[in-house]
Amino acid sequence: MHDLDTYQPRVAATLVQDYFPNGKLAGESRVITCPYCRLQHSHGAVLGHRAPHCLDVVAKRNQVVDPRDTRSTPGYVLCEPDEPVNWQLEYVYGQMVVLRNKYRRLSAEHERMDPWTAREKRVKQNLRAEIDGIATVLRKAGVSL
Ligand SMILES: [Zn+2]
Repeated sequence: MHDLDTYQPRVAATLVQDYFPNGKLAGESRVITCPYCRLQHSHGAVLGHRAPHCLDVVAKRNQVVDPRDTRSTPGYVLCEPDEPVNWQLEYVYGQMVVLRNKYRRLSAEHERMDPWTAREKRVKQNLRAEIDGIATVLRKAGVSL
């Protein structure tokens, strides 16, 4: 396992032509599926490292990852799609970063909870169970928490 604090997953960056509304060629860009937020991002055509374009907004359509968990990531490296890279594995590295961010966010939230009522205590217990489940996945993947 790479060091998730610094490892920048490689992503297959598909070259696309961009056109003006009048049909004239405007230039080229690269489209990727983000290993962090799972949405598509567009970048300039040059390959190499990029800061991620994950949007810090809640309830974006099709957004399955909590934006709070993609705020802090090492970015990614745009590569030609035909490079001999295990793209699936690179994607998983990104998802591990996000899952660890979630683990840390929920743990801090759990720490702050001070339940009084039976209902509040149940909520805290349920959160603990969720955190433990995430921890199990991360440990099995060899990620230090
Ligand atoms: Zn993203």
